[in-house]
Amino acid sequence: MKSYIRLVLLAVVLVCSPAYPITASAAENVEILIDGEVFSCSPGPVLREGQVLIPMRSFFEIMGLNVEWHNESQVALAYRETIDVCVQENGDPPLINGEDPALDTPARLIDGTLYVPLRLAAESIGLQVSWDGEQNAVLLEQGTCNGAGFLGVAAHTAAREDENHTPGVSTGSFIWPLEGGGRIPSPYGWRSGRFHAGVDIGAPRGTTVLASDGGTVVFSGWDGAYGYAVVIKHGHYYTRYAHHSSNLVRVGERVAQGQVIGQVGATGRATGTHLHFEIRTGGIYGPTLNPTTYISR
Ligand SMILES: [Zn+2]
Repeated sequence: MKSYIRLVLLAVVLVCSPAYPITASAAENVEILIDGEVFSCSPGPVLREGQVLIPMRSFFEIMGLNVEWHNESQVALAYRETIDVCVQENGDPPLINGEDPALDTPARLIDGTLYVPLRLAAESIGLQVSWDGEQNAVLLEQGTCNGAGFLGVAAHTAAREDENHTPGVSTGSFIWPLEGGGRIPSPYGWRSGRFHAGVDIGAPRGTTVLASDGGTVVFSGWDGAYGYAVVIKHGHYYTRYAHHSSNLVRVGERVAQGQVIGQVGATGRATGTHLHFEIRTGGIYGPTLNPTTYISR
C-alpha cells in the first residue's frame, strides 16, 4: 500500500439549535477505545436504539480535525489538511473512506448538541469500527487506509429529543424567535401614521429563526410585502415570521417550540436584514397582539 497527501473536507450542514431542558442518558458502561486508548469527551456518547451516538464537534476536534462554523450558510466544516489516502494495488481509483455523502444520516439533536452515529463518524475518517462484546466496548482502529471523505448532516431534519416540546403541541407560552438574541429597532404599533403589526428584530442574514411555540405550519411561502414567510397555528394563536432568506418548514408540518423554521433575510418589503415577528389571534390575518408582552430576550 502506498499513500499520498490530499486535502479532505468534511462538510456538515448544521442549523444551530436551541438548548433544551432535557438530559440525555449516557451510553452507560459502553467504552470507546481508539487503538486501545480510552476515548472520552464531554458531553459523552449516548446510546439510542442500540447505536452509539457521539457529539459531532467534540469527536472530530479530539480526532485532530479543524471544525469551522459558517453561520450564513449554516455549514460546519471539519477538515484536516493532510491525510493519507490509499492507492489500491490493483490500480483502481484511490480509496477515500466515507466518500458517499450521508445527508440522510440519522443525526439527533440532544440538549442542543448534534450527535451522529459513532460508526459513521469514525469510518468517515478512516477508522475501522468493531464491537467487543466481552469488554462492552466499541473498538476504533486506524485502518490500513487512513482515508477521509464527505459527511453531510442536515441538522434541521435531525430527530429532536425533547420530552417537553412535542411537535405540534402548543406549550401556551412564546419564546424569543431568534437564536442568539437580537434587538428590536422597530416596535409594535403605530409609526409614521402606519400600523406595524409585529416587531422587527435586527439580525444578520442566515440567523436561525425558531418556532416561538409548538404548533402546525399553516403558511410557508411568498407573501408579498412579507417576502418569504411562515405562519404557525398554536390553537387560538398564530405567529408569523417574515422576510426570511429561506423557509425550512412546509405547510402541514408539526413543529416543536424552538424548532428551526427558517433563516433571517430581507425578502419582501424590508430595509436591512431582520425578522418581522407577529402574534395574531383567531386566524392568519386575525387581530394582532404586541409580541413584547409575551416574549423577552
Ligand atoms: Zn416589521
